[in-house]
Amino acid sequence: MSQGIITVCYIAATILFILALGGLSNQETARRGNVYGMVGMAIALLATIFGVVTANYEILIGALVIGGTIGLILARRVQMTQMPELVAILHSLVGAAAVMVGFASFMDPEMKFEGVEKIIHEIEIYIGVLIGAVTFSGSVIAFGKLSGRIGGRPLMLPGRHWFNLGLLLAAIWFGREFVIQAETGGGMEPLIIMTVIALVFGIHMVMAIGGADMPVVVSMLNSYSGWAASATGFMLSNDLLIVTGALVGSSGAILSYIMCRAMNRKFLAVIAGGFGTGGGASAGGGGEEQGEVVPLDAGEVAVALQDAREVMIIPGYGMAVAQAQHVVQEITRTLREKGVNVRFGIHPVAGRMPGHMNVLLAEAHVPYDIVFEMEEINEDFPDVDVSVVIGANDIVNPSAQEEPDSPIAGMPVLECWKGKLTVVLKRSMATGYAGVQNPLFFKDNTRMLFGDAKDTLDQVLHSLN
Ligand code: NDP
Repeated sequence: MSQGIITVCYIAATILFILALGGLSNQETARRGNVYGMVGMAIALLATIFGVVTANYEILIGALVIGGTIGLILARRVQMTQMPELVAILHSLVGAAAVMVGFASFMDPEMKFEGVEKIIHEIEIYIGVLIGAVTFSGSVIAFGKLSGRIGGRPLMLPGRHWFNLGLLLAAIWFGREFVIQAETGGGMEPLIIMTVIALVFGIHMVMAIGGADMPVVVSMLNSYSGWAASATGFMLSNDLLIVTGALVGSSGAILSYIMCRAMNRKFLAVIAGGFGTGGGASAGGGGEEQGEVVPLDAGEVAVALQDAREVMIIPGYGMAVAQAQHVVQEITRTLREKGVNVRFGIHPVAGRMPGHMNVLLAEAHVPYDIVFEMEEINEDFPDVDVSVVIGANDIVNPSAQEEPDSPIAGMPVLECWKGKLTVVLKRSMATGYAGVQNPLFFKDNTRMLFGDAKDTLDQVLHSLN
């Protein structure tokens, strides 16, 4: 394949990736965006395999078959509720790849740069390995936290900010050593030491982040994985990888900004860790109950829904666990046919990944025009007759507004308690991801419908028909 064709393919792939990102910004166009992304990636892979690579095809094909098979098996097996942790572990692979390419590139005897170019190449390697190692270890810990293998409570080391600062200064100092020693053929030692420092930093950074701030970390690691890929592109002198990495890096950064704004957090405060825990007060507020709750049965909920004019459905992580989105759509259709105005209120961090609820509702064919973002409908609750909270907890927790020491203090929440009646569907009195009890359950105008959300909603639908 000539260089000209490769360049044309790379430009086409870049344009398709940009169109993919544009498509993903809206539910109606998201499916098309995915197709653009897949076609772009296919073109990029073919051009790289048949154009850029010129030798060692056996190894390459072997690796592609092994990697492709693992990917296929994982993609077929993964449950929708496991998607966030799958995404986290995939980010870690991008980080690991950047570290390995960095070391390989440093040891490559054929890499013959001179003078300033050599120094620039060494700095590329150093930064690439640094970002890659932070992304790798941070994503592994995020995987552990999202899958429940590691507890959600933030790790609050004494003097943790000084510890982070020390790691940063050490990384800079070893960077200087690396460039100096590489002049005389050395440099491996500082590179390895920095890799260890970066791994420790990644672990510490994510361990220090409290449960409710995890969405920011997920999007931030997404961004880091993009920059790691971009750094790999610099090391391999591959323009497409540089551009693609930068696209992922910058869109991840924008997403982190959006998540921070949605949660009323400052980005730096989140990555420094322990924000909103009020000096460890998160341990308080914990699981203790705050009074009596009033349970209803499915038939009573159906009557309340039928008699309502305005219904607001608030889905959360439990809807994903129960896979209740299809029955939710059925109930919505039935109520709308009876003349009830049904709307959905979506909190930006509902579920376990950005856009989680929107994906589930789109899958169940809930009309897009009745699905609203929190800021669009939060003022409307006083006019709502019945709010149905389906497997949501933290995103409807009034203590975010009422308790300054709460781990979720300051996070905007859906103010359903301002409506006439709230029905909460969950299996028990267990807390949500942030590990704090929810005073909403004990309010006068709240009723509980206990059980798996799919089972209880099936019964509600049955009573409605
Ligand atoms: P929560 O985790 O706060 O609450 C989910 C609730 O669902 C639980 O209280 C649980 O109660 C209930 N539940 C679980 N399974 C079922 C089931 N089968 N049937 C009925 N109920 C069920 O979820 P929210 O969506 O309210 O909030 C999201 C949380 O996750 C926030 O703290 C957010 O910061 C965090 N997060 C979000 C990410 C994102 O990008 N969106 C990423 C990482 C974290 P019970 O066990 O009693 O049934």
